[in-house]
Amino acid sequence: MIPFVGLKLGVHHFDFSIEDTFFQDFEFSEVTAGIFQVNVQVEKKSAMMEVSIEMKGSTPVICDKCGDEMILEVAGNDHWVIKWGEQTDDENDEVWIFGPKEHFIDVKHRIYELIQLSIPAKRVHEEGECNQEVIAKLNQFSTSEDADTQWISLKNMELENNTDLLLDDDSDEEE
Ligand SMILES: [Zn+2]
Repeated sequence: MIPFVGLKLGVHHFDFSIEDTFFQDFEFSEVTAGIFQVNVQVEKKSAMMEVSIEMKGSTPVICDKCGDEMILEVAGNDHWVIKWGEQTDDENDEVWIFGPKEHFIDVKHRIYELIQLSIPAKRVHEEGECNQEVIAKLNQFSTSEDADTQWISLKNMELENNTDLLLDDDSDEEE
């Protein structure tokens, strides 16, 4: 929450350090740990305010390939405009309208979303940094899995053939 009522016209900076406790307020947060440095810039003009957020940090994630924990470096930024109006309306991500009763800019959700969005869908170690023991086991497993799949498809084929025979029997009876 940034109080803007007392701010003079011009550019103002606010620094935040975000740690694990920040995410406790967000029940379904995918990110639950990490350290993030956030700088919020508020430029107050007579008719509006411009808000910019710069975020960088790191969070522990599980590697998709080997399952080991790894520290992921992330960064992102966000920007929007706040204009004055009769009624508050902050549904639009680009432009917020602030009614006369507003005194604070709630940047918490924007920072939260920025961090969530900065986490890529696919998280893997850099080439060669995966847990080699796990990778070796995975390779073994995937080979035997291929063998299983072939066996199953062969079995299915046999079943299909049997069904054909059964159907043929039926049609014979009908004739
Ligand atoms: Zn890995």
